[in-house]
Order: sequence, then C-alpha cells, then structure tokens
Amino acid sequence: GGIADWIARRARRRPGHTALVDVATGARHDYATLDRRVGARAAALAALGVGVGARVALLGENSAAYLEWLFGAARIGAVAVPVNHRLAPAEVAHVLGDSGATVLVRSTAFATLADASLAALTGPAPAVVELGAEPGTDTVAAHPAAGDDPCVIMYTSGTTGVPKGAVLTHDNMLWNAINMVTAGPGIGGADVTIAAAPLFHIGALGLSALPLLYAGGTVVVVPAFDPAAFAALLAAEGVTTQFLVPAMWAALTRLPSLPDLPDLRWAISGGAPCPVTVIEHFTGLGWTFTEGFGMTELSPAALFLDAADVLTHAGSVGRPFLHVDARLVAPNGEDVGVGEVGELVLRGPTVFAGYWNRPEATAEVLRNGWFHSGDLGVRDAEGFVTLVDRKKDMIITGGENVYPVEVEQVLHRHPAVADVAVVGVGDAQWGETVLAVVVAAGPLDPDDVIAFARERIAHFKAPRRVEVVEELPRNATGKLLKRVLREQFAGQAE
Ligand code: ATP
Ligand code: MG
Repeated sequence: GGIADWIARRARRRPGHTALVDVATGARHDYATLDRRVGARAAALAALGVGVGARVALLGENSAAYLEWLFGAARIGAVAVPVNHRLAPAEVAHVLGDSGATVLVRSTAFATLADASLAALTGPAPAVVELGAEPGTDTVAAHPAAGDDPCVIMYTSGTTGVPKGAVLTHDNMLWNAINMVTAGPGIGGADVTIAAAPLFHIGALGLSALPLLYAGGTVVVVPAFDPAAFAALLAAEGVTTQFLVPAMWAALTRLPSLPDLPDLRWAISGGAPCPVTVIEHFTGLGWTFTEGFGMTELSPAALFLDAADVLTHAGSVGRPFLHVDARLVAPNGEDVGVGEVGELVLRGPTVFAGYWNRPEATAEVLRNGWFHSGDLGVRDAEGFVTLVDRKKDMIITGGENVYPVEVEQVLHRHPAVADVAVVGVGDAQWGETVLAVVVAAGPLDPDDVIAFARERIAHFKAPRRVEVVEELPRNATGKLLKRVLREQFAGQAE
C-alpha cells in the first residue's frame, strides 16, 4: 500500500516505461518489472516475519535494489529505516537499536560494517538479508496503508548533534511528491533524474527518487558521486530535472567543461546554503537553476525559488511549495515584520509525525500546530524568504548578531578562497569572535581576507581571525560540520 501503490498503478498504466536504471549493474527496470521486484522484496520480508509497523533497516550504497526494498517494506505496511553507511559501528548499532529494526538489509560492500554493528548491538539482533540478491518469485498481498501510517524513519543529518529519527508517513511522502511535481517547471512522466546524493538522507529520496517515480518518470541510480562521471551521465541519460546538494553542484563548477545538456530543464540545489557564486555559474550557462529549502522533518521540500526569480532574488530560498504554509516568528510566537529576523515555522501535510521514541524532542518543535525549524530568516514585501542561518550557528559578538552564512557568501567571492566556514569561538573580550576557516585556492594572506570582508560587510561581521585548513569537515551530503570546527578551534590563541 501507500507509496508502493504508486509503482503498482504506474505498472498498470505504462508497464514498459523505464522506472529505474542502475548504473553499477547496468540493469534497466520498466515499471512492470519494478512492480514485480517490489512484490518479491515484500514477500521476502514477510517470510522473515516482517509485518505491519515493523522496521526494516537498509544499509547500502545507492542502487535500484535499495529502492526496491524500501517500496517492498511499504507494500506490507512495514517501515524502512535508511541507515547512513558513513557512521561508525557503534552509531549504526544505535540506529538499529533505537529503531528496533527486526531485519537489516545490507549490501556486500557494507557487510563488514554490518557485522561490526551487530557485534556492538546490545538488544535482540535483526535478521540479516543480502541487499543485492536477485529477488525470488513469491508474492504477497499488499497491506492497504492509511495515509498517516509511518512509511520511513529517516534520520536527520546530524549536523547539529545526534541524528534524530523523523517518522515520515505515507501522506507526508505523497504530498511532498505533489509539491515537487507542481513546482517550478514541473515533473512528469517524460522526466529523467539521477539519484546521486545518498538515499539514506531525505534529499535524494524525497527530491529525486520519490517524486519522479510518483510522476511515472525515470530514476537513474549511481552508487557514488564522481563529478566527471556524473556530468557524462547527465548527457548520456538525457537528464531533464536534477537535484543535488550545494557541495555537489560546486564540484561540477570545478570541472574543466560540462557536456551540452539540451534536455535539462530544471536544476535545483538544497540541503545547505548554496554559494551565490555557484548559482551564478549555472545561470551564466543559461540553465534554469533554482534553490530550495528543505528539512528531513518536512519530507523535505518546503520553500523554493522559481527560475524566473533567481536573477532578481539570488540567495533567497523563495516562497513555500504549493501545500506548505510558512511564517517567520519572534520568540513570543508573533509574526515578525518585513526585513526582521524570525524563526521559520511551517505547517501542512508534509510535516512529519514526530521523532521516533522522542516525545520531548517532538513537543519542542511541534508547537501550536506549527513545526519550528530552528532556522532563522527574513522575508521581503513579496514574501521571498532569505535564510540567515541556523539559530544554533548564530554568533553573538560584542552584543551584535552575526549570521555566518552571510559572511561565507562574501568570502566565497575572494579569489584565494576555495571553500570557507565561519563559526563563532569563545572570546574573553567579545563573548564570541568571528572565525573564518578557509581552504585556500592559492597563496592566501589572512589579513587580506579580513580586509576583503570589511570592505563589503560591517566590521563586526568580518572575521577577526582566519585559519587555513586542507579540508573542511563535512557530512555525507557535504554539509559543514560547524560543531567540529568550533571544538577544534575553541580556546586556541590567535
Ligand atoms: P540535524 O537536525 O541532525 O542537526 P540537519 O538539520 O542538517 O541535521 P537535515 O534535515 O538534513 O538535517 O537538514 C535540514 C537543515 O538544512 C535545515 O534546517 C537548514 O538549516 C539546512 N538547509 C536546507 N536547505 C537549505 C538552504 N537552501 N539554505 C540554507 N540552509 C538549508
Ligand atoms: Mg535539523
């Protein structure tokens, strides 16, 4: 039932259209084949005793089979739990224990990680299933899912702390798909996309795979992201619509050239702030390149900027998707005025059901019918929202609020800066001081970087300190791990 019905219905209407392409195995499954394979995965899970509401953990690189298992679980009313394969064994064990998964479907590539995780698990051990095994021929009756039945437990990215399991329902996924197919240039049955960001985070699942399959389009799945290979694949598969996280788009800007992409209608970035320099790079190529804002807890699509507005509102995440309500509120819960900073709160059918096993954390963010994002933003008179930063990342220096993203956007324009993260570190005189941690693109003079910022933004926002590093700490989707930088540079003398 639920999302698995999408596949069954497409298989009925358009059985021969390509649904999934697996670049690693070369397999191309049409909707009829995918529907059969989903049924077989469901039967395999049912044979292991998986029933309605049971959790099925998925540990593997992106593949067609990964999505088959996810839909297979949904078909019998079970709940898929995608697991980040970059976690340490103890962390994977935490997710397995926390979610109470009774089956772990894992790929060969992560067999060692799976074994180590099971060894670290204290509770009952889940049954282990080979993710890439060819499906059998058994079938099982579909469970008619209700809209508010859980569909996946998707863990947040862990950017600000320990990942939390967000319970996303079948209706959440449906309305998210509707939001995506009705946005921008739209998504339909002729569309082709690549699921390139990891499927264990909501981005690739909620913005690439699910909306395209809902619309009856084609999803090409790659096991890992290599910029040059990805660019060639965009052309080879005739990709029409593409979501990537900003770190991936930025990597594409550094390629010596990109192939001609006459079919590409819509490129979208989201998941972290996209440097305006990256947006300008692609709009400069004549692309329809837009930015959106999303969160795991929002399934994830929440706001996006229409292509027509990109040039006039670069840096803004735009306005809500069709079925999302958004406001910016002050700590007292009242709406802030135009141009004033407030917390972004959202409402609608894509807001999650709550954090798995964490009623207090859920109550903290779901208040008075609105989901509190923890992100701060401002809106203009036309309702365009510009995020200023996460509440947790805001720096208070000498009594002034500094939003690191604003400083980063400026420093990205410095020719010697290849990459940059701005964080606040404790300071006896100022409370916090603005630190820019920079990856250099060439010879770099810290004083020049500071002067460059001071020419463009208020002095109190400009970094007082610049540290050069080889590489910035990022998670699987390229999000900056600022908590790691704050720890690393805390209390270090200038
Ligand atoms: P955790 O909640 O575990 O700390 P996380 O918040 O990074 O991790 P996600 O749900 O993957 O986990 O990411 C949502 C967050 O990503 C948003 O709250 C916001 O801070 C950030 N984000 C998403 N899209 C954008 C964007 N276009 N611009 C700026 N920030 C964005
Ligand atoms: Mg979060």
